[in-house]
Amino acid sequence: MQIAGVQKTSLIDFPNKISTVLFTIGCNMKCPYCHNKQISFDFVCPPQPMLMDEVFSLIQERLGFIDGISISGGEPTIQKDLLDFCFEVKKRFGLLIKVDTNGSNPHVIDELIKKKLVDYLALDIKTSFQRYKGSLGVDGKNILKSYNIIKDSGVDYELRMTCYPDFISTEVIDELLPYLNYRDRLFIQKCNNENTYDAGQLELFRNIFKEQGYGQTGIR
Ligand code: SF4
Repeated sequence: MQIAGVQKTSLIDFPNKISTVLFTIGCNMKCPYCHNKQISFDFVCPPQPMLMDEVFSLIQERLGFIDGISISGGEPTIQKDLLDFCFEVKKRFGLLIKVDTNGSNPHVIDELIKKKLVDYLALDIKTSFQRYKGSLGVDGKNILKSYNIIKDSGVDYELRMTCYPDFISTEVIDELLPYLNYRDRLFIQKCNNENTYDAGQLELFRNIFKEQGYGQTGIR
């Protein structure tokens, strides 16, 4: 695992849990609003991976204070040994594990779920599945596959829709609705970029979902 850094305690990352957050290095997407560009793809100064002994020691020190770990990034599912790492965390510490993902590697998500190595998944919905290729150069079918795997798994999850105007619009939401499920917990987020929507527009997006019966749609 290539981990750039650790946030020792987070009260907000893992819903209703106290967690330690690990930030993995590298991502297979290049979102213009990325919150963590310098460890995801914009390696002006190459991030140095932490030693795994150091990571495990840090987790060990947090035992008794945390309920689990959150693995964020970057994109955790491109890490070759993500499954082994989660297995090790479960075996050594018995902690809950949350994984943030852009959904591009459904087979990894499937394995995490089948092997009971993940307790919470946060999946990004960046645009409609048919627009992923044009917007981000990745196959939207994989994101849809990940979504369906997660939705049908029984593992607790949330969807996060960052509202970057080039990627999200009322038309895009109309394209998404036939694929999503009204029981989804969906968070509409303002994007970390000067090119963004105002609060009123985010409210409008939320209302579109609410009118379609999505009772668990929130704005972050
Ligand atoms: S998928 Fe996430 S980590 Fe990767 S570039 Fe986009 S916002 Fe950044």
